[in-house]
Amino acid sequence: MKIAIIGGGAAGCFCAIGLKRRLPDAEVTVYEAGPKLLAKVAVTGGGRCNLTNSFRDVRRLGEVYPRGEQLMRRALAAFSHEDTMRWFEAEGVRLTVQEDQCVFPVSQDAMQIVRTLERCLREAGVRVRLNAPVERVGDLDADRVVVTVGGSSREKLERLLPAGVEVTPCVPSLFTLKIPDAGLRALMGTVVEQASLALAGTKFRAAGTFLLTDWGVSGPATLRLSSYAARHLAENGYAGTLLVNWLDAPEAAAREWMAAAAAEHPQKQAAGTPPAGLTARLWRHLLSRAGLREDLRWAELGSKGAARLASTLTADAYPVAGRARFKEEFVTCGGVALSGVNLNTLESKVCPGLYFAGEALDVDAVTGGFNLQSAWSTAALVAAAME
Ligand SMILES: Cc1cc2nc3c(=O)[nH]c(=O)nc-3n(C[C@H](O)[C@H](O)[C@H](O)COP(=O)(O)OP(=O)(O)OC[C@H]3O[C@@H](n4cnc5c(N)ncnc54)[C@H](O)[C@@H]3O)c2cc1C
Repeated sequence: MKIAIIGGGAAGCFCAIGLKRRLPDAEVTVYEAGPKLLAKVAVTGGGRCNLTNSFRDVRRLGEVYPRGEQLMRRALAAFSHEDTMRWFEAEGVRLTVQEDQCVFPVSQDAMQIVRTLERCLREAGVRVRLNAPVERVGDLDADRVVVTVGGSSREKLERLLPAGVEVTPCVPSLFTLKIPDAGLRALMGTVVEQASLALAGTKFRAAGTFLLTDWGVSGPATLRLSSYAARHLAENGYAGTLLVNWLDAPEAAAREWMAAAAAEHPQKQAAGTPPAGLTARLWRHLLSRAGLREDLRWAELGSKGAARLASTLTADAYPVAGRARFKEEFVTCGGVALSGVNLNTLESKVCPGLYFAGEALDVDAVTGGFNLQSAWSTAALVAAAME
């Protein structure tokens, strides 16, 4: 049997190794458009490769896979993060789970992952064709074809795939937001360990560490929000209103905290007693946004001032004026529609013998190693299905 794999990235290489180990008599060929295999893996995690996650803090799969939750439930049942860790450790890669539950090689070197996969490809006897872009699936002389071309555009995927294979629109995910606000800009570099964000008028919400930059906002909470709202933001030209809850707490809790501060030290200046988690500079910025004097004492706050401050602390509104790229990681939201794919095998429903794995599918995740895990899991699912 001849099996062609289009794309020599994480999913393509992992699938090829799995296939050749299961089907030693099959002729497995990886066609890679570029001059090197695994070029993206080499730069993942800032060159350290966050290859999976412990999933310890994942309460619901949909929180980390905004697209493809149902598929990922099956793919992880077939090949979990623990299987990934066991697989790489069996190949001699020692791994470490960071405090934030991201998994990296102990070497902190993505090239160790690249070299390991390349060695496994060689040892298994997979054929590799570099500088070999495939224009159309139909051009290949193969009994089975696995499409692992990664994040792409809808047009490119439609050109590559046979007619009838449905592709959803492809838009970027995992980006930071441009906020043209001089006050925030002056606070560039400020980190809030736990804030929550929302897009006004939508259901999109995300919480976590929040970072102020010279162009706007970044950090895990922003990236998560960009992932959840990837399609919505694309459709709205990356414009909208960002609501920042600086305390990640309900307004009632903010009011309670203010009442307690006023009762405890009424003669102290509010500016001198920031809430836990906020820097003194950020707190002064928020007092000024709430229209309060810098030398205001807690006893002078009054009910109107308290209402304005509680609202600023928990729903501080900023206009979004576009997206900016997040250099560490970005992925494509959209790809081969899951409705046209058998979720147990990842074989096309309209084109038997055609399979998909990795980011080419309409599956993507938030940051933290979940994207590579989807590449390993979906690739393993295809390899098992073809046996
Ligand atoms: C800078 C950066 C850092 C990242 N860091 C992390 C991280 O630390 N952890 C994490 O989980 N995720 C990370 N990601 C996301 C992760 O890298 C991807 O989700 C993952 O690589 C997807 O694997 P894939 O095999 O589906 O696609 P890719 O790795 O993109 O591979 C697809 C391959 O197909 C080839 N190709 C495309 N079209 C054709 C064609 N027509 N013919 C032949 N070949 C073709 C491409 O050249 C490419 O080599 C990062 C992404 C970026 C951009």
